[in-house]
Amino acid sequence: MVGGGQLARMTHQAAIALGQGLRVLAASPDEPAPQICPDVVLGDHDRIEDLRRAATGAHALTFDHEGVPTAHLLELQAEGVTVNPPPQALLYAQDKLAMRRRLAELGAPVPGFAEIEAVEDVRAFWERFDGAVVLKAVRGGYDGRGVWLPDTVDEAVAVAAEQLAAGTPLMAEQRVELARELSAMVARSPFGQGAAWPVVETVQRNGQCAVVLAPAPNLADAEAGFAESLALRLAEELGVVGVMAVELFQTPSGEMIVNELAMRPHNSGHWSMDGCVTSQFEQHLRAVLDYPLGDTAARAPLTVMANVLGAAEAPAMSMDERLHHLLARMPDAHVHLYGKGERPDRKIGHVNLVGAWDGDRDDPEYAGALRERAERAAHWMATAEWTDGWSEHGER
Ligand code: ADP
Repeated sequence: MVGGGQLARMTHQAAIALGQGLRVLAASPDEPAPQICPDVVLGDHDRIEDLRRAATGAHALTFDHEGVPTAHLLELQAEGVTVNPPPQALLYAQDKLAMRRRLAELGAPVPGFAEIEAVEDVRAFWERFDGAVVLKAVRGGYDGRGVWLPDTVDEAVAVAAEQLAAGTPLMAEQRVELARELSAMVARSPFGQGAAWPVVETVQRNGQCAVVLAPAPNLADAEAGFAESLALRLAEELGVVGVMAVELFQTPSGEMIVNELAMRPHNSGHWSMDGCVTSQFEQHLRAVLDYPLGDTAARAPLTVMANVLGAAEAPAMSMDERLHHLLARMPDAHVHLYGKGERPDRKIGHVNLVGAWDGDRDDPEYAGALRERAERAAHWMATAEWTDGWSEHGER
């Protein structure tokens, strides 16, 4: 697996159970995966020699991020390396403009979009969509970086001028009115088998995923079915091998529009580690290695995943002590820590809470209580503060 982040770390956990060994290509030994993985190749994913060293002798080469240059992957493929997902598919997770063009061709619902090659293009796009404009770097953005939501045409022009001058390929997109964001995750194997997890709701804060409600509450069967079949069809048409997340916007009228694609385990699938029969990490390995795919059914009416995001200032209490207190207070919390240093807003772990089997995810009381507990747990892990003022050493 190219990349030594938390996704590789959690894929390694799944590889152990399958009797497989995961080798990771990491930039440094203190990244999340090389800390726990015995088979580490230190190197740079931008260098073909390093990729080649990592791929030698492996059944397949796969990724924990989208940053590998396509030209290198094509070269490795020509040398006989099994690259999954293949670079011909991965391109649509790397290049937002190529993705928009291909999805439009395939008849998938996408917002209006245009390539921006000069500031005049921004003015024209602004006119065309009456100021409802988002500017995006075509490549390399993540967690909201490389996305701009300008409020005035002058602001849009300034962003475009600056980015174009810096050599960043740019595109504009129609700003969609969002009721919420959803994610449809699927897996596809080289044999052609496909599997879809239930569609989930993702809650973003500062352009970053903070909470996932899985399956998405208050989603009509027809809407869920539409999103799942769309994601399965896209995986098939694009030739994806492995897991893919289709990030979706849902408008106030219920319409769904594709935001972007990720062809790797995804934050919106972390709930599956505890809330599903088969986790996204195991499924990714099954798909990449061409095993039969696993059952994607949810184990409970609702599972809530809350990201542990680094606090503005790391608390004095050690992470281990925070964990100790959390486990004491919430015996049903599934904590997943990534072994990362604490920095503001950095994803350093997540907490999954699986709801009671007899609840109803559309019941605001049941869903609200579970979400509140998951967020309280994640907030505690990040800040050493309980949102409800509870004191672990206090009045007994
Ligand atoms: P990243 O690659 O950083 O995840 P995205 O393209 O997913 O970037 O955009 C980040 C966030 O910006 C989205 O989750 C959404 O909240 C907002 N956003 C992006 N595109 C649009 C759009 N066309 N209309 C409205 N909001 C958008």
